[in-house]
Amino acid sequence: MKKKKLIQSVASNFLEVFKSEPEHVFLAPGRINIIGEHVDYNDGYVLPAAINKYICFAVSANDSNEINLVSQDLKDAHHFRLSDEVKPIDKMWANYMLGVFSQLKERGSRLQGFNVVFASNIPMGAGLSSSAALECGFGYMLNKLFNLGLSKKEIALIGQKSEHTFAGVNCGIMDQYASVFGKEDHVFKLDCTTLEHDYHTARFDEYSVFLMDSKVKHTHLTSGYNDRRREATEGLEILKTKYPEVRTFRDLTVEQVETHKEELGDVRFRRCHFVVGEIRRVLDAVDALEASDFKKLGKLMTETHNGLSKEYEVSCEEIDFLVEATQNEPEILGSRMMGGGFGGCSINLVKKSAEKEVINRLSEAYQKEFDIEPAVYKVKISDGCKEYKKFKGVAPAGE
Ligand code: ADP
Ligand code: MG
Repeated sequence: MKKKKLIQSVASNFLEVFKSEPEHVFLAPGRINIIGEHVDYNDGYVLPAAINKYICFAVSANDSNEINLVSQDLKDAHHFRLSDEVKPIDKMWANYMLGVFSQLKERGSRLQGFNVVFASNIPMGAGLSSSAALECGFGYMLNKLFNLGLSKKEIALIGQKSEHTFAGVNCGIMDQYASVFGKEDHVFKLDCTTLEHDYHTARFDEYSVFLMDSKVKHTHLTSGYNDRRREATEGLEILKTKYPEVRTFRDLTVEQVETHKEELGDVRFRRCHFVVGEIRRVLDAVDALEASDFKKLGKLMTETHNGLSKEYEVSCEEIDFLVEATQNEPEILGSRMMGGGFGGCSINLVKKSAEKEVINRLSEAYQKEFDIEPAVYKVKISDGCKEYKKFKGVAPAGE
């Protein structure tokens, strides 16, 4: 669903449920990550951007102490009072919002009752961070609605904490930062240790970005993630004993890791080799972007995929197939799995003029191989969370 249609549909639903027009409409975007995978928790850098897929919130304060949350997509609602104790409930979607709400209450924010309806065109669970859009969009919305004076950084951190404590997902900070700090036509390099970030123009000239959704999600995502975290950390600890000046992965060179291949052992070596290489690749990717060297950028993306697949071992058969199929497509400059892995989407940099045919060929090949129709998302780099100020009320039917 396109942005305007989404807004219209959410606002109409609000009118139907609450019998009045929403006072405000907010948009919270999903995100892509050009490069820098599995390094946010390994003291690295990432290169994300917000995209033109959103969760749309229609909201009004309601002069009472009641809070009414309505999920249009899931056809579900949750109601509570300001004075109620806020704790996780058995509706997962509501927990992302309740986790935000409870932190605002703890901070002593002056909150009142409100009504909100929300819906989205970010596919859920496909790796485009619909969860971060939900928690950050909700925080952003309450901040504006009740003048809470929160900074963007605070909104992102509150979103992340909500995901940790109320949704039980121990995520890094990238997704929330992208949803809040995104800027049209820009990616940003985020230093995951200091949270410093700088923007880089990313119009990609005659190239564009598309995502192929494998539509698979293998169940070992959580266990795989925890194992990788542990293996990489163990490897780092061994390397620290060899190089006393080293404190984090970013202090190491690929050569230093290679020197200690035997002491690390095969698995820890490959994990560390990937992490150190990936941190380097993000910095090289920024240089490539600055020089508009998209061939180089694409090559780095593909190298990342090889590392994720063979060294970090977080890809899967379906995503490997989607990436390998692009090797026969000279108009695709780069392709890699994006996100946690074990399913989800691949991200691809393609020449605009060839985009349609390439996508058709890849989709057909994937369908033939796995009997699954992949979804394709063409994305534009957009702004982070914001109020949709152009909203002037629900148009009468037929307009
Ligand atoms: P991702 O963030 O990659 O999309 P997650 O599993 O982290 O995947 O988050 C998806 C969850 O976020 C959904 O299962 C749901 O609980 C919540 N969510 C996301 N979008 C919506 C939506 N439009 N309506 C209701 N809940 C949503
Ligand atoms: Mg998520």
